[in-house]
Amino acid sequence: MKLIITIITLFLLSVNLQAQVQTDQYQYKIDLLNIENDKVSVSFTPPKNKLKSATFVMPKLVPGYYDAMNFGQHISELKAFDKTGKEIGVAKQDVNTWKIADLEHTVKISYQVEDGWEYLVQNTGGAKSPTSMFKKDSVSIINYNALVGYFQELPKTGYTVTIKKNPDFYASSALPFDHKNDTTDVATAVDYRRLVDAPVMYCKPDTTWLKVGDTKVLVSFYSAAPEKYSKVLADKISSILENQRAYLGGKLPVKDYAFLIYHESIPHNGLMGDGLEHSNSTVCLYGSKNLDRLPQALMRVASHEFFHVLTPLNVHSEEIQEFNFLNPVLSQHFWLYEGMTEYATLHMPVKQHMINLDEFVKSINEKIDGMKKFDDTLSMTLMSKQAIERQDQYMNIYQKGALIGLCLDIRLRELSNGKSGTQDLILALAKKYGPERAFKDDTLFDTITKMTHPEIREFFSKYVEKGNPLPLKESLQKAGLDYDETTATVTIAKSPSKKQVAFRKMWID
Ligand SMILES: [Zn+2]
Repeated sequence: MKLIITIITLFLLSVNLQAQVQTDQYQYKIDLLNIENDKVSVSFTPPKNKLKSATFVMPKLVPGYYDAMNFGQHISELKAFDKTGKEIGVAKQDVNTWKIADLEHTVKISYQVEDGWEYLVQNTGGAKSPTSMFKKDSVSIINYNALVGYFQELPKTGYTVTIKKNPDFYASSALPFDHKNDTTDVATAVDYRRLVDAPVMYCKPDTTWLKVGDTKVLVSFYSAAPEKYSKVLADKISSILENQRAYLGGKLPVKDYAFLIYHESIPHNGLMGDGLEHSNSTVCLYGSKNLDRLPQALMRVASHEFFHVLTPLNVHSEEIQEFNFLNPVLSQHFWLYEGMTEYATLHMPVKQHMINLDEFVKSINEKIDGMKKFDDTLSMTLMSKQAIERQDQYMNIYQKGALIGLCLDIRLRELSNGKSGTQDLILALAKKYGPERAFKDDTLFDTITKMTHPEIREFFSKYVEKGNPLPLKESLQKAGLDYDETTATVTIAKSPSKKQVAFRKMWID
Protein backbone atom coordinates (compact mmCIF):
# COMPACT_ATOMS: atom_id res chain seq x y z
CA MET A 1 0.00 0.00 0.00
CA LYS A 2 2.72 2.39 0.93
CA LEU A 3 4.58 1.63 -2.26
CA ILE A 4 1.55 2.43 -4.41
CA ILE A 5 1.11 5.77 -2.69
CA THR A 6 4.73 6.60 -3.31
CA ILE A 7 4.40 5.77 -6.98
CA ILE A 8 1.31 7.94 -7.31
CA THR A 9 3.08 10.80 -5.56
CA LEU A 10 6.04 10.45 -7.87
CA PHE A 11 3.77 10.36 -10.86
CA LEU A 12 1.96 13.52 -9.77
CA LEU A 13 5.25 15.18 -9.07
CA SER A 14 6.60 14.40 -12.52
CA VAL A 15 3.43 15.76 -14.13
CA ASN A 16 3.80 18.93 -12.14
CA LEU A 17 7.47 19.23 -12.95
CA GLN A 18 6.66 18.89 -16.61
CA ALA A 19 4.33 21.86 -16.41
CA GLN A 20 6.90 23.83 -14.50
CA VAL A 21 9.55 24.68 -17.01
CA GLN A 22 9.38 28.42 -17.19
CA THR A 23 10.36 30.17 -20.39
CA ASP A 24 10.32 33.84 -21.27
CA GLN A 25 6.67 33.48 -22.32
CA TYR A 26 3.30 33.01 -20.73
CA GLN A 27 2.54 29.35 -21.54
CA TYR A 28 -1.21 28.98 -21.62
CA LYS A 29 -3.43 25.91 -21.91
CA ILE A 30 -7.08 26.14 -22.91
CA ASP A 31 -9.17 22.98 -22.86
CA LEU A 32 -12.14 23.08 -25.22
CA LEU A 33 -12.49 19.29 -25.11
CA ASN A 34 -13.61 18.95 -21.52
CA ILE A 35 -16.09 21.77 -21.08
CA GLU A 36 -18.13 21.17 -17.94
CA ASN A 37 -21.09 23.19 -16.71
CA ASP A 38 -20.42 25.59 -19.57
CA LYS A 39 -17.01 26.42 -18.13
CA VAL A 40 -13.63 26.08 -19.79
CA SER A 41 -10.53 25.10 -17.83
CA VAL A 42 -7.61 27.45 -18.40
CA SER A 43 -4.14 27.32 -16.87
CA PHE A 44 -0.74 28.85 -17.44
CA THR A 45 2.88 28.75 -16.40
CA PRO A 46 4.13 32.26 -15.66
CA PRO A 47 7.08 33.57 -17.65
CA LYS A 48 10.51 33.61 -15.98
CA ASN A 49 10.63 36.64 -13.72
CA LYS A 50 12.25 38.09 -10.64
CA LEU A 51 9.06 39.27 -8.97
CA LYS A 52 8.20 38.41 -5.37
CA SER A 53 4.48 38.93 -5.94
CA ALA A 54 2.33 40.12 -8.82
CA THR A 55 -1.14 41.26 -9.83
CA PHE A 56 -2.95 39.07 -12.34
CA VAL A 57 -5.24 41.09 -14.59
CA MET A 58 -8.24 40.33 -16.78
CA PRO A 59 -9.23 43.27 -19.00
CA LYS A 60 -11.79 45.84 -18.01
CA LEU A 61 -12.35 46.58 -21.68
CA VAL A 62 -10.81 45.98 -25.09
CA PRO A 63 -9.96 48.23 -28.05
CA GLY A 64 -12.91 48.95 -30.32
CA TYR A 65 -15.61 48.31 -27.73
CA TYR A 66 -15.67 51.10 -25.21
CA ASP A 67 -18.14 49.73 -22.74
CA ALA A 68 -16.59 48.47 -19.47
CA MET A 69 -17.10 44.73 -19.85
CA ASN A 70 -15.06 43.52 -16.84
CA PHE A 71 -13.91 40.18 -18.20
CA GLY A 72 -12.83 39.18 -14.69
CA GLN A 73 -16.51 38.57 -13.91
CA HIS A 74 -16.47 35.32 -15.91
CA ILE A 75 -13.47 33.89 -14.01
CA SER A 76 -13.85 31.55 -11.04
CA GLU A 77 -11.71 29.22 -8.92
CA LEU A 78 -8.49 31.03 -9.65
CA LYS A 79 -5.69 29.13 -7.89
CA ALA A 80 -1.91 29.31 -7.88
CA PHE A 81 0.39 26.33 -7.27
CA ASP A 82 4.04 25.73 -6.42
CA LYS A 83 6.11 22.93 -7.94
CA THR A 84 4.93 20.39 -5.38
CA GLY A 85 1.33 21.14 -6.23
CA LYS A 86 0.73 23.07 -3.03
CA GLU A 87 -1.56 26.06 -3.26
CA ILE A 88 -0.11 29.54 -3.01
CA GLY A 89 -2.08 32.42 -1.55
CA VAL A 90 -4.28 34.36 -3.99
CA ALA A 91 -6.32 37.37 -2.97
CA LYS A 92 -9.04 38.70 -5.24
CA GLN A 93 -8.70 42.50 -5.25
CA ASP A 94 -11.62 43.50 -7.41
CA VAL A 95 -13.60 42.11 -10.31
CA ASN A 96 -10.60 42.09 -12.68
CA THR A 97 -7.49 41.65 -10.52
CA TRP A 98 -5.95 39.02 -8.24
CA LYS A 99 -2.85 39.39 -6.10
CA ILE A 100 -0.53 36.38 -6.25
CA ALA A 101 1.29 36.42 -2.89
CA ASP A 102 4.38 34.42 -3.80
CA LEU A 103 5.10 34.57 -7.51
CA GLU A 104 8.66 33.39 -6.94
CA HIS A 105 7.39 29.90 -6.17
CA THR A 106 4.36 29.91 -8.48
CA VAL A 107 4.70 27.50 -11.40
CA LYS A 108 1.07 27.25 -12.39
CA ILE A 109 -2.12 29.27 -12.19
CA SER A 110 -5.45 27.75 -13.11
CA TYR A 111 -9.04 28.98 -13.33
CA GLN A 112 -12.43 28.38 -14.90
CA VAL A 113 -14.01 30.64 -17.50
CA GLU A 114 -17.71 30.97 -18.13
CA ASP A 115 -18.86 32.11 -21.56
CA GLY A 116 -20.17 35.66 -22.01
CA TRP A 117 -23.07 34.82 -24.30
CA GLU A 118 -24.84 31.72 -25.41
CA TYR A 119 -27.50 32.73 -27.89
CA LEU A 120 -27.88 36.03 -29.71
CA VAL A 121 -31.52 36.43 -28.76
CA GLN A 122 -31.71 35.25 -25.19
CA ASN A 123 -28.80 37.26 -23.93
CA THR A 124 -29.56 40.57 -22.32
CA GLY A 125 -28.61 43.28 -24.77
CA GLY A 126 -27.82 40.74 -27.49
CA ALA A 127 -24.49 39.15 -28.29
CA LYS A 128 -21.33 40.72 -27.02
CA SER A 129 -18.76 40.24 -29.73
CA PRO A 130 -15.64 40.75 -27.55
CA THR A 131 -16.61 38.00 -25.11
CA SER A 132 -16.26 34.30 -25.79
CA MET A 133 -18.74 31.52 -26.36
CA PHE A 134 -18.21 27.77 -26.16
CA LYS A 135 -20.44 24.98 -27.34
CA LYS A 136 -18.50 21.80 -26.93
CA ASP A 137 -19.99 19.92 -29.86
CA SER A 138 -20.58 22.61 -32.43
CA VAL A 139 -18.68 25.89 -32.17
CA SER A 140 -16.44 28.00 -29.96
CA ILE A 141 -15.62 31.64 -30.48
CA ILE A 142 -12.49 32.52 -28.59
CA ASN A 143 -11.68 36.10 -27.76
CA TYR A 144 -8.50 35.72 -25.77
CA ASN A 145 -9.32 38.78 -23.67
CA ALA A 146 -12.06 36.68 -22.05
CA LEU A 147 -9.82 33.66 -21.38
CA VAL A 148 -6.28 34.90 -21.01
CA GLY A 149 -4.82 37.52 -18.68
CA TYR A 150 -1.44 39.01 -17.82
CA PHE A 151 0.58 40.22 -14.87
CA GLN A 152 0.42 43.95 -14.46
CA GLU A 153 4.19 43.85 -13.83
CA LEU A 154 4.88 41.88 -17.06
CA PRO A 155 2.68 43.45 -19.71
CA LYS A 156 4.98 43.08 -22.72
CA THR A 157 5.74 39.37 -22.55
CA GLY A 158 4.91 36.95 -25.37
CA TYR A 159 2.39 34.10 -25.38
CA THR A 160 2.27 30.45 -26.35
CA VAL A 161 -1.27 29.15 -26.16
CA THR A 162 -1.96 25.41 -26.47
CA ILE A 163 -5.58 24.63 -27.25
CA LYS A 164 -7.18 21.21 -26.85
CA LYS A 165 -10.04 20.89 -29.29
CA ASN A 166 -12.50 18.57 -30.95
CA PRO A 167 -10.67 16.64 -33.76
CA ASP A 168 -13.32 17.74 -36.30
CA PHE A 169 -12.86 21.42 -35.52
CA TYR A 170 -10.83 23.83 -37.59
CA ALA A 171 -9.35 27.03 -36.17
CA SER A 172 -10.06 30.17 -38.22
CA SER A 173 -7.98 33.13 -37.11
CA ALA A 174 -5.66 35.86 -38.30
CA LEU A 175 -2.82 34.57 -36.09
CA PRO A 176 -0.92 31.60 -37.48
CA PHE A 177 -1.74 28.26 -35.83
CA ASP A 178 0.56 25.33 -35.41
CA HIS A 179 -1.51 22.13 -35.68
CA LYS A 180 0.35 19.71 -33.41
CA ASN A 181 -2.12 16.89 -33.85
CA ASP A 182 -5.86 16.25 -34.31
CA THR A 183 -6.74 17.67 -30.93
CA THR A 184 -3.95 20.15 -30.27
CA ASP A 185 -3.29 23.58 -31.76
CA VAL A 186 -0.67 26.05 -30.66
CA ALA A 187 -0.97 29.81 -31.22
CA THR A 188 1.74 32.32 -30.47
CA ALA A 189 1.74 36.11 -30.10
CA VAL A 190 4.48 38.62 -29.30
CA ASP A 191 2.41 40.33 -26.61
CA TYR A 192 -1.03 40.53 -25.04
CA ARG A 193 -2.37 43.20 -27.40
CA ARG A 194 -1.47 41.10 -30.46
CA LEU A 195 -3.01 37.98 -28.92
CA VAL A 196 -6.28 39.76 -28.12
CA ASP A 197 -6.22 41.21 -31.62
CA ALA A 198 -6.65 37.75 -33.19
CA PRO A 199 -9.82 35.92 -32.10
CA VAL A 200 -10.45 32.35 -33.21
CA MET A 201 -13.55 30.55 -34.39
CA TYR A 202 -13.49 26.78 -33.85
CA CYS A 203 -16.01 24.67 -35.74
CA LYS A 204 -16.34 22.14 -38.54
CA PRO A 205 -14.86 23.97 -41.50
CA ASP A 206 -16.98 25.89 -43.98
CA THR A 207 -14.25 28.10 -45.38
CA THR A 208 -13.48 29.90 -48.63
CA TRP A 209 -10.21 31.61 -49.46
CA LEU A 210 -10.07 34.71 -51.62
CA LYS A 211 -7.21 36.48 -53.26
CA VAL A 212 -7.81 40.24 -53.51
CA GLY A 213 -4.78 41.78 -55.17
CA ASP A 214 -1.91 40.52 -53.01
CA THR A 215 -4.10 39.98 -49.96
CA LYS A 216 -5.18 36.50 -48.84
CA VAL A 217 -8.65 36.60 -47.32
CA LEU A 218 -10.29 33.81 -45.36
CA VAL A 219 -14.07 33.68 -45.12
CA SER A 220 -15.04 31.23 -42.41
CA PHE A 221 -18.69 30.54 -41.65
CA TYR A 222 -20.56 28.76 -38.92
CA SER A 223 -24.29 28.14 -38.76
CA ALA A 224 -26.39 25.40 -37.28
CA ALA A 225 -28.26 25.49 -40.63
CA PRO A 226 -27.14 22.54 -42.75
CA GLU A 227 -26.05 24.52 -45.81
CA LYS A 228 -22.48 25.37 -46.60
CA TYR A 229 -22.51 29.08 -47.17
CA SER A 230 -19.01 30.51 -47.00
CA LYS A 231 -18.74 30.54 -50.81
CA VAL A 232 -21.90 32.64 -51.22
CA LEU A 233 -20.66 35.10 -48.60
CA ALA A 234 -17.15 35.12 -50.02
CA ASP A 235 -18.49 36.15 -53.45
CA LYS A 236 -20.16 39.20 -51.90
CA ILE A 237 -17.14 40.06 -49.79
CA SER A 238 -14.92 39.66 -52.82
CA SER A 239 -16.84 42.30 -54.79
CA ILE A 240 -16.66 44.72 -51.85
CA LEU A 241 -12.96 44.18 -51.31
CA GLU A 242 -12.14 44.53 -55.00
CA ASN A 243 -13.90 47.89 -55.01
CA GLN A 244 -12.17 48.91 -51.79
CA ARG A 245 -8.86 47.99 -53.34
CA ALA A 246 -9.57 50.20 -56.35
CA TYR A 247 -10.74 52.99 -54.04
CA LEU A 248 -7.46 52.74 -52.12
CA GLY A 249 -5.39 53.10 -55.25
CA GLY A 250 -4.99 49.42 -56.17
CA LYS A 251 -3.31 48.06 -53.07
CA LEU A 252 -4.73 46.83 -49.77
CA PRO A 253 -2.60 47.62 -46.72
CA VAL A 254 -2.70 44.07 -45.24
CA LYS A 255 -1.27 40.74 -46.41
CA ASP A 256 -3.78 38.48 -44.65
CA TYR A 257 -7.29 38.96 -43.42
CA ALA A 258 -9.99 36.73 -41.91
CA PHE A 259 -13.76 37.13 -41.66
CA LEU A 260 -15.12 34.92 -38.89
CA ILE A 261 -18.87 34.80 -39.36
CA TYR A 262 -21.22 33.16 -36.89
CA HIS A 263 -24.91 32.71 -37.62
CA GLU A 264 -27.81 31.39 -35.63
CA SER A 265 -31.47 31.02 -36.49
CA ILE A 266 -33.90 33.23 -34.64
CA PRO A 267 -37.68 32.77 -34.59
CA HIS A 268 -38.70 36.18 -36.01
CA ASN A 269 -38.05 37.94 -39.32
CA GLY A 270 -35.64 40.50 -37.90
CA LEU A 271 -31.93 40.56 -38.41
CA MET A 272 -29.56 40.92 -35.51
CA GLY A 273 -25.90 41.59 -35.81
CA ASP A 274 -22.83 42.52 -33.89
CA GLY A 275 -19.24 42.77 -34.96
CA LEU A 276 -15.82 43.80 -33.81
CA GLU A 277 -12.89 44.71 -35.98
CA HIS A 278 -9.30 43.70 -35.40
CA SER A 279 -6.11 44.46 -37.27
CA ASN A 280 -6.37 41.44 -39.54
CA SER A 281 -9.77 40.00 -38.84
CA THR A 282 -13.38 40.69 -38.02
CA VAL A 283 -15.81 38.71 -35.94
CA CYS A 284 -19.39 39.03 -37.23
CA LEU A 285 -22.29 37.60 -35.26
CA TYR A 286 -25.67 37.29 -36.95
CA GLY A 287 -29.12 36.13 -36.07
CA SER A 288 -31.84 35.71 -38.71
CA LYS A 289 -34.63 33.31 -39.59
CA ASN A 290 -32.79 31.98 -42.61
CA LEU A 291 -29.61 32.77 -44.49
CA ASP A 292 -31.10 34.82 -47.38
CA ARG A 293 -30.59 38.21 -45.79
CA LEU A 294 -27.05 37.54 -44.69
CA PRO A 295 -25.04 38.45 -47.81
CA GLN A 296 -26.57 41.94 -48.03
CA ALA A 297 -26.16 42.61 -44.31
CA LEU A 298 -22.62 41.36 -44.38
CA MET A 299 -21.59 43.60 -47.25
CA ARG A 300 -22.12 46.75 -45.23
CA VAL A 301 -20.45 45.34 -42.13
CA ALA A 302 -17.57 43.84 -44.08
CA SER A 303 -17.00 47.15 -45.78
CA HIS A 304 -16.86 49.12 -42.53
CA GLU A 305 -14.74 46.59 -40.66
CA PHE A 306 -12.32 46.11 -43.50
CA PHE A 307 -11.76 49.86 -43.88
CA HIS A 308 -10.40 49.73 -40.35
CA VAL A 309 -7.19 48.33 -41.84
CA LEU A 310 -6.48 52.00 -42.64
CA THR A 311 -7.46 53.44 -39.31
CA PRO A 312 -6.82 52.53 -36.55
CA LEU A 313 -4.48 49.80 -37.87
CA ASN A 314 -2.26 52.11 -39.90
CA VAL A 315 -3.20 55.45 -38.36
CA HIS A 316 -3.56 55.59 -34.58
CA SER A 317 -2.37 57.40 -31.48
CA GLU A 318 -0.21 56.17 -28.62
CA GLU A 319 -3.34 55.47 -26.58
CA ILE A 320 -4.22 52.72 -29.07
CA GLN A 321 -0.67 51.44 -29.56
CA GLU A 322 -0.06 51.11 -25.81
CA PHE A 323 -3.60 50.17 -24.89
CA ASN A 324 -4.03 49.69 -21.13
CA PHE A 325 -6.59 46.90 -20.70
CA LEU A 326 -7.28 47.71 -17.07
CA ASN A 327 -7.25 51.50 -16.90
CA PRO A 328 -7.39 52.69 -20.48
CA VAL A 329 -6.75 56.29 -21.43
CA LEU A 330 -8.82 56.83 -24.53
CA SER A 331 -7.82 58.75 -27.63
CA GLN A 332 -9.72 61.90 -28.66
CA HIS A 333 -9.80 60.76 -32.27
CA PHE A 334 -12.73 58.39 -32.58
CA TRP A 335 -14.05 60.82 -35.21
CA LEU A 336 -11.12 59.44 -37.25
CA TYR A 337 -11.13 55.73 -36.33
CA GLU A 338 -14.88 55.23 -36.54
CA GLY A 339 -16.24 58.36 -38.25
CA MET A 340 -13.84 58.38 -41.20
CA THR A 341 -14.15 54.61 -41.52
CA GLU A 342 -17.92 54.91 -41.72
CA TYR A 343 -17.67 57.80 -44.19
CA ALA A 344 -15.47 55.66 -46.45
CA THR A 345 -18.22 53.01 -46.50
CA LEU A 346 -20.64 55.68 -47.77
CA HIS A 347 -18.27 57.29 -50.23
CA MET A 348 -16.65 54.21 -51.74
CA PRO A 349 -19.79 52.62 -53.29
CA VAL A 350 -20.79 55.82 -55.12
CA LYS A 351 -17.23 56.60 -56.17
CA GLN A 352 -16.85 53.06 -57.52
CA HIS A 353 -20.24 53.26 -59.29
CA MET A 354 -21.69 50.44 -57.21
CA ILE A 355 -24.63 52.71 -56.34
CA ASN A 356 -26.13 55.79 -58.01
CA LEU A 357 -26.53 59.37 -56.76
CA ASP A 358 -30.05 58.72 -55.40
CA GLU A 359 -28.82 55.86 -53.27
CA PHE A 360 -25.88 57.92 -52.05
CA VAL A 361 -28.21 60.77 -51.03
CA LYS A 362 -30.39 58.22 -49.25
CA SER A 363 -27.42 57.02 -47.20
CA ILE A 364 -26.53 60.63 -46.27
CA ASN A 365 -30.13 61.18 -45.15
CA GLU A 366 -29.96 58.07 -42.99
CA LYS A 367 -26.93 59.49 -41.21
CA ILE A 368 -28.60 62.87 -40.69
CA ASP A 369 -31.65 61.10 -39.35
CA GLY A 370 -29.52 58.94 -37.05
CA MET A 371 -27.70 61.99 -35.72
CA LYS A 372 -30.99 63.55 -34.47
CA LYS A 373 -31.12 61.23 -31.46
CA PHE A 374 -27.87 62.65 -30.09
CA ASP A 375 -26.54 65.86 -28.60
CA ASP A 376 -25.32 67.91 -31.58
CA THR A 377 -23.44 70.37 -29.35
CA LEU A 378 -21.17 67.82 -27.69
CA SER A 379 -17.50 68.07 -28.62
CA MET A 380 -16.46 64.93 -30.53
CA THR A 381 -12.94 64.94 -29.10
CA LEU A 382 -14.31 65.23 -25.55
CA MET A 383 -16.86 62.49 -26.21
CA SER A 384 -14.02 60.22 -27.43
CA LYS A 385 -11.97 60.77 -24.29
CA GLN A 386 -15.04 60.04 -22.19
CA ALA A 387 -16.50 57.25 -24.33
CA ILE A 388 -16.76 54.84 -21.40
CA GLU A 389 -18.92 57.26 -19.41
CA ARG A 390 -20.73 58.65 -22.45
CA GLN A 391 -22.13 55.40 -23.85
CA ASP A 392 -25.42 57.31 -24.29
CA GLN A 393 -23.71 59.49 -26.94
CA TYR A 394 -21.08 57.11 -28.24
CA MET A 395 -23.08 55.74 -31.18
CA ASN A 396 -23.17 59.24 -32.67
CA ILE A 397 -19.60 58.58 -33.80
CA TYR A 398 -21.12 56.43 -36.59
CA GLN A 399 -23.66 59.14 -37.48
CA LYS A 400 -22.21 62.61 -36.96
CA GLY A 401 -18.74 61.07 -37.21
CA ALA A 402 -19.48 59.93 -40.78
CA LEU A 403 -20.91 63.37 -41.63
CA ILE A 404 -17.76 65.05 -40.24
CA GLY A 405 -15.96 62.91 -42.83
CA LEU A 406 -18.33 64.09 -45.54
CA CYS A 407 -17.92 67.80 -44.71
CA LEU A 408 -14.15 67.41 -44.32
CA ASP A 409 -13.95 65.67 -47.70
CA ILE A 410 -15.87 68.49 -49.37
CA ARG A 411 -13.76 71.17 -47.64
CA LEU A 412 -10.49 69.46 -48.63
CA ARG A 413 -11.65 69.17 -52.24
CA GLU A 414 -12.75 72.76 -52.25
CA LEU A 415 -9.34 73.91 -51.01
CA SER A 416 -7.47 71.72 -53.51
CA ASN A 417 -9.66 72.53 -56.51
CA GLY A 418 -11.06 69.03 -56.37
CA LYS A 419 -7.68 67.33 -56.52
CA SER A 420 -7.69 65.60 -53.16
CA GLY A 421 -10.04 64.69 -50.35
CA THR A 422 -10.23 62.37 -47.35
CA GLN A 423 -9.40 59.35 -49.50
CA ASP A 424 -5.96 60.85 -50.19
CA LEU A 425 -5.56 62.20 -46.66
CA ILE A 426 -6.05 58.81 -44.99
CA LEU A 427 -3.66 57.13 -47.41
CA ALA A 428 -1.07 59.85 -46.75
CA LEU A 429 -1.50 59.42 -42.99
CA ALA A 430 -1.19 55.62 -43.31
CA LYS A 431 2.03 56.12 -45.25
CA LYS A 432 3.38 58.59 -42.69
CA TYR A 433 2.58 56.40 -39.64
CA GLY A 434 1.79 52.75 -40.38
CA PRO A 435 1.06 49.90 -37.96
CA GLU A 436 4.03 50.41 -35.63
CA ARG A 437 4.29 54.19 -35.43
CA ALA A 438 1.74 56.05 -33.34
CA PHE A 439 0.95 59.76 -33.51
CA LYS A 440 0.63 61.99 -30.46
CA ASP A 441 -3.03 62.47 -29.66
CA ASP A 442 -2.69 66.24 -29.12
CA THR A 443 -0.83 67.01 -32.32
CA LEU A 444 -2.93 65.26 -34.99
CA PHE A 445 -4.99 68.28 -36.05
CA ASP A 446 -1.86 70.40 -36.48
CA THR A 447 -0.15 67.59 -38.39
CA ILE A 448 -3.07 67.23 -40.80
CA THR A 449 -3.18 71.00 -41.21
CA LYS A 450 0.50 71.00 -42.19
CA MET A 451 -0.11 68.14 -44.62
CA THR A 452 -3.08 69.89 -46.25
CA HIS A 453 -4.20 73.53 -45.96
CA PRO A 454 -3.99 76.13 -43.15
CA GLU A 455 -7.81 76.59 -43.32
CA ILE A 456 -8.38 72.99 -42.22
CA ARG A 457 -7.34 73.80 -38.64
CA GLU A 458 -10.44 75.96 -38.28
CA PHE A 459 -12.62 73.10 -39.53
CA PHE A 460 -11.29 70.77 -36.82
CA SER A 461 -11.56 73.40 -34.15
CA LYS A 462 -15.16 74.33 -35.00
CA TYR A 463 -16.69 70.97 -35.79
CA VAL A 464 -14.60 68.34 -34.01
CA GLU A 465 -13.08 70.03 -30.97
CA LYS A 466 -16.05 72.30 -30.33
CA GLY A 467 -19.56 70.99 -30.67
CA ASN A 468 -20.85 73.13 -33.51
CA PRO A 469 -23.52 71.71 -35.80
CA LEU A 470 -21.93 70.68 -39.11
CA PRO A 471 -22.06 73.02 -42.14
CA LEU A 472 -24.17 70.54 -44.10
CA LYS A 473 -26.07 73.11 -46.13
CA GLU A 474 -23.07 75.06 -47.38
CA SER A 475 -21.00 71.90 -47.93
CA LEU A 476 -23.59 69.92 -49.89
CA GLN A 477 -24.64 72.96 -51.90
CA LYS A 478 -21.17 73.03 -53.50
CA ALA A 479 -21.98 69.67 -55.10
CA GLY A 480 -25.50 70.62 -56.16
CA LEU A 481 -27.27 68.93 -53.28
CA ASP A 482 -29.93 70.90 -51.38
CA TYR A 483 -30.21 70.61 -47.65
CA ASP A 484 -33.50 71.68 -46.11
CA GLU A 485 -32.70 72.64 -42.53
CA THR A 486 -36.31 72.57 -41.33
CA THR A 487 -36.92 68.98 -42.44
CA ALA A 488 -33.23 67.99 -42.20
CA THR A 489 -33.29 66.27 -45.58
CA VAL A 490 -30.98 66.29 -48.55
CA THR A 491 -32.30 66.29 -52.13
CA ILE A 492 -30.63 66.54 -55.50
CA ALA A 493 -30.82 70.14 -56.83
CA LYS A 494 -33.21 70.43 -59.82
CA SER A 495 -30.96 72.59 -61.95
CA PRO A 496 -27.40 72.63 -60.60
CA SER A 497 -24.90 75.09 -62.05
CA LYS A 498 -21.98 73.93 -64.20
CA LYS A 499 -19.69 74.60 -61.27
CA GLN A 500 -21.76 72.45 -58.96
CA VAL A 501 -21.89 69.61 -61.45
CA ALA A 502 -18.13 69.82 -61.94
CA PHE A 503 -17.55 69.75 -58.19
CA ARG A 504 -19.87 66.79 -57.78
CA LYS A 505 -17.98 64.94 -60.46
CA MET A 506 -14.65 65.46 -58.70
CA TRP A 507 -16.13 64.41 -55.40
CA ILE A 508 -18.09 61.30 -56.22
CA ASP A 509 -17.54 60.34 -59.82
ZN1 LIG B 1 -15.75 50.44 -36.55
